[in-house]
Amino acid sequence: MIRRALRLGLGPGLLGRGLGAHREGSTLDWHGKVSEIKKKIQSVLPGGAWSPLCDTSHLPPEHSDVVIVGGGVLGLSVAYWLKRLEKRQGAIRVLVVERDHTYSQASTVLSVGGIRQQFSLPENIQLSLFSVEFLRNINQGAKVCLMSPEQLRKKFPWMNMEGVALASYGFVSSSNHMETAIGEKVTLKRIHEVHVKVDHSQEYQPVECSIVVNAAGAWSGRIAELAGIGKGPSGTLQGTKLPVEPRKRYVYLWHCPQGPGLEAPLVADPSGAYFRREGLGNNYLGGCSPAEEEEPDPGNLEVDHDFFQEKVWPHLAQRVPAFETLKVRRAWAGYYDYNTFDQNGVVGPHPLVVNMYFATGFSGHGLQQAPAVGRAVAEVMLEGHFQTINLSPFLFSRFYLGEKAQEHCII
Ligand SMILES: Cc1cc2nc3c(=O)[nH]c(=O)nc-3n(C[C@H](O)[C@H](O)[C@H](O)COP(=O)(O)OP(=O)(O)OC[C@H]3O[C@@H](n4cnc5c(N)ncnc54)[C@H](O)[C@@H]3O)c2cc1C
Repeated sequence: MIRRALRLGLGPGLLGRGLGAHREGSTLDWHGKVSEIKKKIQSVLPGGAWSPLCDTSHLPPEHSDVVIVGGGVLGLSVAYWLKRLEKRQGAIRVLVVERDHTYSQASTVLSVGGIRQQFSLPENIQLSLFSVEFLRNINQGAKVCLMSPEQLRKKFPWMNMEGVALASYGFVSSSNHMETAIGEKVTLKRIHEVHVKVDHSQEYQPVECSIVVNAAGAWSGRIAELAGIGKGPSGTLQGTKLPVEPRKRYVYLWHCPQGPGLEAPLVADPSGAYFRREGLGNNYLGGCSPAEEEEPDPGNLEVDHDFFQEKVWPHLAQRVPAFETLKVRRAWAGYYDYNTFDQNGVVGPHPLVVNMYFATGFSGHGLQQAPAVGRAVAEVMLEGHFQTINLSPFLFSRFYLGEKAQEHCII
């Protein structure tokens, strides 16, 4: 359910603060004027406590050009780029709808925050490079080198080289009708409005819109279903679902005074275990994805501490002998926005529900790629095609065509 609405460029709230440069000053004047008029009316009425005017400032607008479902890093990035790339300031009205303003289960706040360039698909490398450059405001190219075990041993003497033949080290300073090709008759649909549930109320406010962006992370499969996506005969385009679902992943924070120093990069072991240093106090963050047949129940976010003892720690201690003595201090769980088809992002419009756009399914690498993904989605919306990075392999149609954009470097 959609519980909370944040209006981009029109009103106060989280998003307005994050994008202050694009906020329209007139909103503040409007609120000021309304409250001035209310005060005047109240001052001439008896019993001053009740208000003769109904304050609707908490309600979403009745119209918005774009409604983005999900106010995580991907939804906000799409909103940012739409406003940044619009031809005239204030030309596009964007509404970001977020159901949980504490972000208690959002992947964005529960992630490890690791950034890397080591992916098997060129598109993923480009997405990460663009995003790092965007985040750090630098103008450099790819900075990955292959290192022999000897070179690695010299650079990181704390690491056990057993089983390592070659390592990759990244060092960026830090309704119409049509037929498909095979003759399937399909109906094109549009979403005309979304219904936003208002805070502290059972009411839904309809918001008319031209485009809906599905950036609901681990829950984006459900949003797609609401739009009728996947509700057709199986094997057809209409019956093709968005294959994104929540998969529970644990993050452990441990302390180890003898552990690797400040130069330690994000380390991904061939076993799947990974870690990075967290801050200055000899703390480390890490984990490991479970095997497919051992996927934990995503029904809650409880942490399995045995998983660390049995599946993570042995690999960590094998790779970094100093980790023999580590002490786990905290742990939490979050949801990967897991694309079961090929563990990669889904970007761009749906082929049938033509005004639903996706920015989802990044299966554990969405945080670092969010700046580039947001830009790509905004480009397709505004220009009709990808401009900066060609993300055509990430279009929804691949699920129907059976064309995997398989990413092998998932951690
Ligand atoms: C444990 C863990 C470790 C990770 N580590 C990394 C890492 O090291 N590097 C990296 O790049 N990525 C990492 N990721 C992945 C990354 O966090 C995600 O890919 C990214 O945050 C996805 O962003 P999002 O905006 O799509 O999702 P979210 O942050 O989950 O945002 C989606 C939002 O949609 C909202 N929503 C859902 N349904 C509705 C609805 N009906 N109405 C309104 N709002 C709705 C939710 O409340 C949520 O806030 C990790 C993820 C986890 C769980």
